[in-house]
Amino acid sequence: MTAAFHTPIAAIATAPGRGGIGVIRISGRDLGAFVRDFFGRELTPRHAHYLPFSDAQGKAIDEGIALFFQAPHSYTGEDVLELQGHGGPAVLRRLLTRCLEAGQDMGLRLAEPGEFTRRAFLNDRLDLAQAEAVSDLINASSEAAARSAMASLSGAFSTRVDALSEGIVRLRMLVEATLDFPEEEIDFLEKYQAAAQLAKLREQLDELVRQARQGMILREGLQVVLAGQPNVGKSSLLNALAGDEIAIVTPIAGTTRDKVIQQIHIEGVPLHIIDTAGLRETEDTVESLGIARSWAAIEKADVILHLRDARAPGDELDAAITRRLPPGTPVLEVYNKIDLLENGSEPAVPNAPDHTDPGHPRQSLGISAKTGAGLDTLRTKLLEIAGWQPGTESPWLARERHLHALNAAASHLALAAEHASHNDSVLDLFAEELRLAHEDLCAITGQFTSDDLLGEIFSSFCIGK
Ligand code: GDP
Repeated sequence: MTAAFHTPIAAIATAPGRGGIGVIRISGRDLGAFVRDFFGRELTPRHAHYLPFSDAQGKAIDEGIALFFQAPHSYTGEDVLELQGHGGPAVLRRLLTRCLEAGQDMGLRLAEPGEFTRRAFLNDRLDLAQAEAVSDLINASSEAAARSAMASLSGAFSTRVDALSEGIVRLRMLVEATLDFPEEEIDFLEKYQAAAQLAKLREQLDELVRQARQGMILREGLQVVLAGQPNVGKSSLLNALAGDEIAIVTPIAGTTRDKVIQQIHIEGVPLHIIDTAGLRETEDTVESLGIARSWAAIEKADVILHLRDARAPGDELDAAITRRLPPGTPVLEVYNKIDLLENGSEPAVPNAPDHTDPGHPRQSLGISAKTGAGLDTLRTKLLEIAGWQPGTESPWLARERHLHALNAAASHLALAAEHASHNDSVLDLFAEELRLAHEDLCAITGQFTSDDLLGEIFSSFCIGK
């Protein structure tokens, strides 16, 4: 533990700008003397005190509510003082400066981003997955994401991970006890039905991985690239999905010179829709730069929405685009302008393309960006093709880091199963794989974490949290 961990910290905890209330938060191991000096009196812990907040000469800077939380019964696990004043940037800055002056002797300094929550984690008020959920709750961009972040914060994810960890540890203890009696090794696997126990643990872990994937989609969203030739209606579709005029729609080919990104939500899942420059051969340098960027965006997409003109389903240029799409990325073939087809407004798929290429998971449908026909089906299919299971909201949010750890644990359990399946199974190798799987799971809740990882996690928090 570094010295910096013990210095008291202060920050404005409310968002910048004007608001009804602005909060300054101070955390330190012992704020008793600071409180007496600042207010000229003691504060009863967990009581709201309506008081003037004065400068060093006793002149009021503001007045408001002071709340004192005595360690360890606070957010950080240290003494915490909260000053709730008026929410104006100038008055809050004056009050913060005054606090820093008053706390100079005890080394009071400005908090770094996420430092209050980092202290909460280091003082065992939260585990790491819960600490991450604090930031995810603040950053949640949909109600579904906020609900799931709150579930993580109250420990829904950590509890599942801990339960699985315990199961693994129990099995490992059995194995290790057997290792001390080598003559019993052979019987061990049968006697304790180790293989069956392991299979059950692997099943639970697979379910956790599946949910974590959903949780990650909910947190990170999906990158959907709108690709297609000029004039097929990409900008019109983006506007129809987003519900306002964000991309310029004109009948002149090559209008969208660069990417336009719009975030929409479907079932609470954030979709980052990237409208690209129309893909065609061009002499125009600026336009060809835009097209190069489009291909770069397509390479990174989670889903490609290949928009085509329903009146020209067999278009050769579209076939060329299809051939160039990265293998493995799901593609939704969308035929636009069905309102111009002779058979009218029914979303029908003209000459659906070949679905047999396993490298290109693809589906197709007809829409009209103009009339809105087929857009609901498009929304559902977009989520479906990206791997989102509709109606099964993830019970918690997950991060790439979590999924990585869960997958690593799953590989160790798979290796353990392999050791167990051999007749001459090597128990110490079996035990070692269980130990490694357990370590991976512990990394999620932060039992084994490096300072670097903590730095990375907390630096993305806001100041004052
Ligand atoms: P982009 O170049 O692919 O972005 O195409 P735009 O969105 O700019 O659309 C090109 C033209 O097609 C515009 O005149 C649109 O009004 C028109 N358009 C787009 N979608 C539809 C549609 O579903 N039906 C009809 N009738 N016209 C459309």
